Amino acid sequence: MARSIRQSQRWLERAKKLIPTQTQTLSKGPTQFVQGVCPVFVQRGQGSHVWDVDGNEYIDYLLGLGPITLGWNDPATNDAIKKQLEQGITFSLPHTLEVELAELLRKIIPCAEMVRYAKNGSDATAACVRIARAYTKRDLIAVCGYHGAQDWYIATTERDRGVPALMKQLVRKFEYNNIETLERIFAENQGKVAAVIMEAISVEEPRDNFLQKIRKLCTKHGALLIFDEVVTGFRLALGGAQEFYKVIPDLAAFGKGVANGMPLSIVAGKRRIMQTCDDVFFSMTYGGETLSLAAAIATIKEMQSKPVLQHLRSLGAKLKDAFNALASKYDLPVECKGLPPHAAFSFKDKDDKEDLLLKSIFVQEMSLRGILVTGAYFICYAHTNEDIAKTIVAFEEAFRIMRQALDDGNLRKFIKGTPVQPVFRRL
Ligand code: PMP
Repeated sequence: MARSIRQSQRWLERAKKLIPTQTQTLSKGPTQFVQGVCPVFVQRGQGSHVWDVDGNEYIDYLLGLGPITLGWNDPATNDAIKKQLEQGITFSLPHTLEVELAELLRKIIPCAEMVRYAKNGSDATAACVRIARAYTKRDLIAVCGYHGAQDWYIATTERDRGVPALMKQLVRKFEYNNIETLERIFAENQGKVAAVIMEAISVEEPRDNFLQKIRKLCTKHGALLIFDEVVTGFRLALGGAQEFYKVIPDLAAFGKGVANGMPLSIVAGKRRIMQTCDDVFFSMTYGGETLSLAAAIATIKEMQSKPVLQHLRSLGAKLKDAFNALASKYDLPVECKGLPPHAAFSFKDKDDKEDLLLKSIFVQEMSLRGILVTGAYFICYAHTNEDIAKTIVAFEEAFRIMRQALDDGNLRKFIKGTPVQPVFRRL
């Protein structure tokens, strides 16, 4: 079972000299795995599997943190990219693919009367916020969840160094499934809330008409409702959580799943609001980059012509149900929550707080068995029933060791490297 990660370690030493944090995406960095046991550098992917730089093979449940919906090296998206590559990448005039994709999105995303493009999910959420502030002529934003790397949002987090304290005054947090926390924000800030931005679902499912109540509150107070569909879009349903829950926001930000790994994000919304873009500054060099637009069209067409989303749902349900059944069997304080195409694992200590040591044992034991996973999983169309069966066997073996560690009381003893660290921490 031991896997050599010698090449990963060598690359890590080289990276440490030149790249702070050794990653471009915090959730992919070495601190999110058990250092000394798990791979650090990846080499290639095929279908639902990836190979690290030491040649070890893994069933991949991280999938680039969500963008891979079809699978690695998918022929449909690859062919579209190659065909466009021969024509050019980033031009100096708008390209017809921008219009073609817009016409496709208009048909599948309920709120998408107009669309604009960007690169990262963070670009799209920040644009939604700016458009909402311009449209309503108000400044305050109510947030619930993670919405990207920009100042307007990071001001609400623990890892807020470098963000002016002033920014905190412009954002208020509310709790998911707790409508009173949002009602209070509206009551205390009459006429000041520009928008509510939220994921329609992340781990908990909406209860007691939570989303419908939010829709009503926003309309009542003249604030815009923005759905952050960076994870839910092109995964939960083609048109995202707004299609799934039949609650239509005013604006929505899409990213990740739309182009099977190519960097594209989308701002979609009602026509009268999107037209604010005519005098809001939202512009970037690569917004109309054509390889990603071509990849998005090809990916969406694959999703429309094959049972991609059903597959994500049915395989995800098998994985989630097995995790929870085994958690009961081994009486572990762990749970898998969320909807089947993407769900999160929780690892709790005696005080009901996140137990990073227990999580570390899980991540380590799964990695040693050739399964790349951390605190959540994503499913893609290339995952097979055989992948799922192997993963469930690995869950059981990992859970047995976690049970042993909890019975022993000294969890650290069971971790063969440096434990997983939180992403949001005060330094
Ligand atoms: N919103 C949500 C819900 C996300 O999960 C993420 C990324 N994990 C973002 C926004 C930001 O997307 P990106 O990292 O592409 O900027």
